[in-house]
Amino acid sequence: MGNVLIIGAGGVGCVVAHKCAQVPEVYETITLASRTVSKCEAIAASIKERTDRTIDTAAVDADNVVETVALIKKVNPDLVINVALPYQDLSIMDACLETGVDYLDTANYEPPTEAKFEYKWQWAYQDKFKDAGVMALLGSGFDPGVTNVFCAYAQKELFDEIHYIDILDCNAGDHGHPFATNFNPEINIREITQKGKYWENGEWIEIEPMSQTWDFDYPGVGVKKSFLLYHEEEESLVKNIKGLKRIRFWMTFGEAYLTHLRVLQNVGMTRIDPVDYEGHPVIPIQFLKKLLPDPASLAKGYTGKTSIGCLIEGVKDGKTKKCFIYNICDHAECNKEVGAQAVSYTTGVPAMIGGMMILNKTWKQAGVYNMEQFDPTPFMDKLNLHGLPWHINWL
Ligand code: NDP
Repeated sequence: MGNVLIIGAGGVGCVVAHKCAQVPEVYETITLASRTVSKCEAIAASIKERTDRTIDTAAVDADNVVETVALIKKVNPDLVINVALPYQDLSIMDACLETGVDYLDTANYEPPTEAKFEYKWQWAYQDKFKDAGVMALLGSGFDPGVTNVFCAYAQKELFDEIHYIDILDCNAGDHGHPFATNFNPEINIREITQKGKYWENGEWIEIEPMSQTWDFDYPGVGVKKSFLLYHEEEESLVKNIKGLKRIRFWMTFGEAYLTHLRVLQNVGMTRIDPVDYEGHPVIPIQFLKKLLPDPASLAKGYTGKTSIGCLIEGVKDGKTKKCFIYNICDHAECNKEVGAQAVSYTTGVPAMIGGMMILNKTWKQAGVYNMEQFDPTPFMDKLNLHGLPWHINWL
């Protein structure tokens, strides 16, 4: 039995709260806190209607460690699930350390003033968490998250050695808007406008943004043009998958999305530095976020599917083998179940399962960990039970 504090009431926070409420034998008490408390209250009302469970809500500015510590002391949780923004990772980790409460997130820290995400800031907490007897589980979403677990499962069960990994992420859904992002617009646009990067033979190779493509045949969706991006799970997987020769990450984007993005970039609307506008400093990407649809609001009427997985090639019993481990998720089904779209759903379900692994002590160790460092099998079993069934195609 556990008491959880969820911080962040956006698209992902909505799913985490609903999914935790579906598992009362693990999540006995739930508090949802965020900057705008009315969003927490709307999610609480939906949970009451769908599950008849009552959850608590609270307002918090998670950039403020003192305020977050006070909330943690009041709620007294066994676990904090951080589904606010990557900017809050370190302040929430500090608050967890001070109160001795386990921590979980779905995206690694990046400083607001530089679009550069890296694990170095969070990995630097390793000794502090170990000494305090507190656990931090990093990146328990889909990618990172389930993709790390798929790789760990392949390493444990399917291959003697893994040589090549391609993580492929396709959203073939239609939300009906000319331009919208499926998770926080600021974080999403910062991620995809960076240079692409992949790892081969021990070296990181940088390429111009969106300059390499691959027409991949996604199960349940068909052939889609995919673009090479740098993604955070690559940084931990190169350390934890033995014998790896290359890892890359690919994501699909439609023509309309790319055209909008190009125009926005060309006119300076994706800039992350302050611009003086009539005496007021305005950060263009933050203003753009205000204009774009809230990711949580896309759920209604969203059709189509996501298909995300890991293409893994290696050796088993002396023979070269290749497989694709993946999940397909339907936007409309997610909306029916929890009032969210599939990108929020595929992130929120693994956050709930990661929390369950910590609370029932299946994955429990003081220190800071990435997903592939624990036994993947119990997590894989829970994916099948909680809405993200997975499949393996041998190629
Ligand atoms: P949203 O923008 O929809 O929601 C973010 C929420 O965090 C909002 O409720 C926001 O409050 C709240 N928040 C922001 N700043 C603070 C603060 N200082 N204190 C308290 N609350 C705050 O984002 P998503 O739900 O789409 O994404 C949530 C997280 O999930 C992000 O970190 C994203 O990178 C990650 N993610 C991970 C994926 C994965 O597969 N690993 C995939 C998709 C997303 P307010 O409403 O007031 O703005």
